[in-house]
Amino acid sequence: MSKTLMIVDDSATMRKIIMRTIRMSGLEFDRTEEAGNGLEALEKLKADPIDIVLCDINMPEMSGSDMVKEARQLDTCKDTKIIMVSTESSQDLISSVMADGANGYITKPFTPEKFQEQLSPFMS
Ligand SMILES: [Mg+2]
Repeated sequence: MSKTLMIVDDSATMRKIIMRTIRMSGLEFDRTEEAGNGLEALEKLKADPIDIVLCDINMPEMSGSDMVKEARQLDTCKDTKIIMVSTESSQDLISSVMADGANGYITKPFTPEKFQEQLSPFMS
């Protein structure tokens, strides 16, 4: 089953690290997009449906938490799985972003196993 991925993080270095970790996890995508903040990500999501989004929380322009809320209003995002990837680990924040429509939460620092575990249910 071919899947598409978008990595949303304001750090280009972090986007590269996430991409490399995804490769190490053995998960395969046939198209990968990147965005530097929530607004940029929403523009891409409006243009083209994406299966899985890995999304940072703390970003300029639009945070990951706000992006999740906005994305859930879009027809093109009904089936998109959004997994947050953040250094923030407060249970309140995690609960609120999950209630807003995120499908998973990975805390930094992460491992290939963590990606494998969180994303594989969405790969079939
Ligand atoms: Mg950030």
